[in-house]
Amino acid sequence: MTAITIRLQGCRKAFADGTVAVHDLNLTVEGGETLAILGPSGCGKTTTLRLIAGLERPDVGQVFFGDQDVTRLPIERRDVGMVFQNYALFPNLDVAGNIVYGLKVRGMAPRERNKRCEELLELVGLQQHGKRSIHELSGGQRQRVALARALAPRPKVLLLDEPLAALDAQLRERLRSELSELLRGLGITSVFVTHDQGEAMALGDRILVMEHGRIAQLASPRDIYQKPANAFVAGFVGNLNAFAVSGASPTGLKVCGGELPWQGTDRPETLYCRPEHLRVTQSEGHLHGRLLAQFFQGAQSRLLVDVGGPQPLLVDSSDNELYAIGAPIALAIAPHLLFTLNA
Ligand code: ATP
Repeated sequence: MTAITIRLQGCRKAFADGTVAVHDLNLTVEGGETLAILGPSGCGKTTTLRLIAGLERPDVGQVFFGDQDVTRLPIERRDVGMVFQNYALFPNLDVAGNIVYGLKVRGMAPRERNKRCEELLELVGLQQHGKRSIHELSGGQRQRVALARALAPRPKVLLLDEPLAALDAQLRERLRSELSELLRGLGITSVFVTHDQGEAMALGDRILVMEHGRIAQLASPRDIYQKPANAFVAGFVGNLNAFAVSGASPTGLKVCGGELPWQGTDRPETLYCRPEHLRVTQSEGHLHGRLLAQFFQGAQSRLLVDVGGPQPLLVDSSDNELYAIGAPIALAIAPHLLFTLNA
């Protein structure tokens, strides 16, 4: 089966009270791609997912699956599998009953159904749990049943609404990598909604960052992080240091605490960098300040360094050396790790 491309063309969705949840959205999800939709509460993530699912119809615009215009098709005629945040499993059916439910409705013969059920139980690692009732399962196991149920009819498109939100942090991280492996292995086109930037980075081939019903940026996780389109995206995905530029020198740009090695021909007002890209150095650094605080975080520690600017700099250092509060700190950065942002 070739994976299908999803296309939203000029989609707008407003609700009865006048709230415009999605504005003129143009979006292509490539066949076999996993797209993460990320953004703050109320930015239109779920509405976008529901437009793709056929649970909402756009006021204006069209939705295509491949060449087919599915705008007016309801969910049951779109060939989508859906996993909801609360899993929406049938409590009166056992695990196998939940998984084959959709196949039964479609009239698949029992023998074929059972074979498919075995395949799916194996796929999600629940081989021994087919006869268990739903209330005997852990949160992670329920999530897997919901996934198996959604995948059972071999849908063209898999949609997931905050699929891991109900799980505790550790389990979430484990299932995140399992889910990522599974989606890549299946090669199915999938779209999922999340609040969690770590989840979006780990699972998404690309991330759509939304702000007020519009696309703030659509790019690979690496580009979203390293080349954010604007200050909103940069602030939403990860931490940021900002440097007000006060002048130029032959080798760079002058900022509070020193001089940064800017290679651009322009002279921006503000330069930015990520905390992990500042390096504590024993030799001549680009910036000089004093340690305000150090927080041990396991694999790394976060330093707060006062270089005389309005905010202390955040520095994520993996050497985990312990510095004395007030100690002089020299920081260096590679020029390509500095960037500018649109407002
Ligand atoms: P969250 O992360 O909180 O789930 P979201 O990004 O998924 O938010 P949506 O659920 O798509 O956001 O909602 C976008 C906007 O549309 C919000 O302002 C929301 O209040 C509004 N909205 C969503 N559904 C409805 C509805 N059925 N009736 C009226 N307004 C709605």
